[in-house]
Parts: sequence; C-alpha cells; structure tokens
Amino acid sequence: MRLDVVTIFPEYLDPLNVSLVGKARAHGRLGVHVHDLRQWTRDRHHTVDDTPYGGGPGMVMKTEPWGEALDQVIADGYESGARRPALVVPTPSGRPFTQELAVELSARPWLLFAPARYEGIDRRVTEEYATRMPVYEVSIGDYVLAGGEAAVLVVTEAVARLLPGVLGNAESHRDDSFAPGAMADLLEGPVYTKPPNWRGRDIPEVLLSGHHGRIARWRRDQALDRTTRNRPDLIERADPAAFDKKDRETLSILGWAPGPDGRFGRTAPDVEE
Ligand code: SAM
Repeated sequence: MRLDVVTIFPEYLDPLNVSLVGKARAHGRLGVHVHDLRQWTRDRHHTVDDTPYGGGPGMVMKTEPWGEALDQVIADGYESGARRPALVVPTPSGRPFTQELAVELSARPWLLFAPARYEGIDRRVTEEYATRMPVYEVSIGDYVLAGGEAAVLVVTEAVARLLPGVLGNAESHRDDSFAPGAMADLLEGPVYTKPPNWRGRDIPEVLLSGHHGRIARWRRDQALDRTTRNRPDLIERADPAAFDKKDRETLSILGWAPGPDGRFGRTAPDVEE
C-alpha cells in the first residue's frame, strides 16, 4: 500500500517511522511519502490560507496550493506505478471513522491524506478530486482538533495493522473490539498475562482451566458486561440474532431484556461494579 500525506507540518508525521507502521515501512509493506504543502506556494511568505468568504472567524486553506500539490503527488504516484488512489480528508464534519471503514481503506492500494489546519480547506478542492477518485471525509471523534495530522496518524495505524503480514500474529485482530465475526459489535473484555498473582490480585481462575469452551464463554460474558456498561448503544442496535441462549441469560443478569421488536434494552439501572 502507498500512502501520501500533504501537510504544513511534515514533522508531525514523524511517528510514522516508529513501531508497527515504521516496521511495515521498513519491510516494504507500506510506502509512506510526506509532502510539505508550502512547497506548492508561490509567494514569499508561503501563504496557504486566506480569509473566509462570507465573513466569520478563522482562516480557510486556499485552493491553489492544495490543487497543485495533489496534482503533482498523484502524477508522481502514477509514475512510480501506484494505481487507484483514494483521497482521505480528515474533518470533524466527516463520517465517523470506524473499524469497518478501516477494513475498507486497508483494501485500497493507495491513500492520499489531506489534513487541514485553520477552518479547513476550501470546499472546491474536495469537489474537484471527487470527480477523479473516491473521497473519504472522515472524523475520528466528536471533538475538534487543531489540525488533521493526528487524525492521519490514527487512521494510518488502524489501517496498517490490518495489512497482510504487518501484525506478528495474523489472528491478533480477529478478536478485537468491533472486529467482524463472532464478537461483532462487542467490546473486547479484559486481558491478563503472567505472573498469576500481582499485588495480591489473582487472574480469573477459568483462564487457567485449559477448557477452551469455558474460556470462550467467559470472554463472551465479559465482552457483554463491558459493552453494556461502556457502549450500551452497541447492544441496543445489535441484531438480536447475534445473541445466543447463553448471551441472553447473561444480558438478563446484567439487566437487559428484548423489547417488542426483539432488540435488547436496559430493564434495570446499570449494575455498579
Ligand atoms: N471549523 C472546523 C469544523 O468545525 O469543522 C474545524 C476545523 S479544525 C480546527 C482544523 C482541522 O483539524 C480540520 O480541518 C481537520 O483536518 C482536523 N480535525 C479537527 N477535528 C477533527 C476530527 N474530529 N476528526 C478528523 N479531523 C479533525
């Protein structure tokens, strides 16, 4: 996979040299190219922003540097053999970035990131490139950052760990929270490692039993417990068919019951730990 990032703070992307993403680059599974947007300015002050039409506070990133930058980055990418680019524009007004979207992006061969500063990029830039390639406007959460670079790091890490051969253990992301499959739309429960006793705290006995069925059931119950506490919305919108008889017993103990449409809702106040 090829990644290009155009930014006014290239150094902000230095973490892409570290850890999992850094290793994926070193092993040639990911080609990362970071570009300084100011390269494509033409005035002495390397201006990338201007006042907003219609008034209001803040500044807006200008069309020309973005257009020239993206045109050249795209042309260079094609020249070196990359194909089927998609533009990823981080913005708090985008669609939520989810594990499902990470999986979708991980199947694309080439992602171009356009992280903004100020009040964002002149709308016409997104419109222009949407005529040439898929454009993903993504929000990493319901809060406002000062710039999109942190969002690029978040999206890149979530996508890179899904690429074949990047995680040491290919099974690792199968049980993740939000991973498609048996644990779909449940948060992952707690995890433990050695030593078996730490500061008087034991690990749950079932994990020492070697009994795979019981361990799987315990993990599922923990996932249900954690999800009802931290993300009740996931239980409420889950397809009831996702819950087997044992799940239903656990949900009932946790104070949840199916409503008239079969979907689960809370019947009792949250059980305190
Ligand atoms: N006034 C803009 C709004 O409310 O949509 C906020 C602009 S913000 C100060 C500057 C840039 O930070 C955005 O254009 C985007 O690139 C990035 N950004 C801020 N919050 C973000 C979020 N939750 N998800 C993704 N990118 C974000």
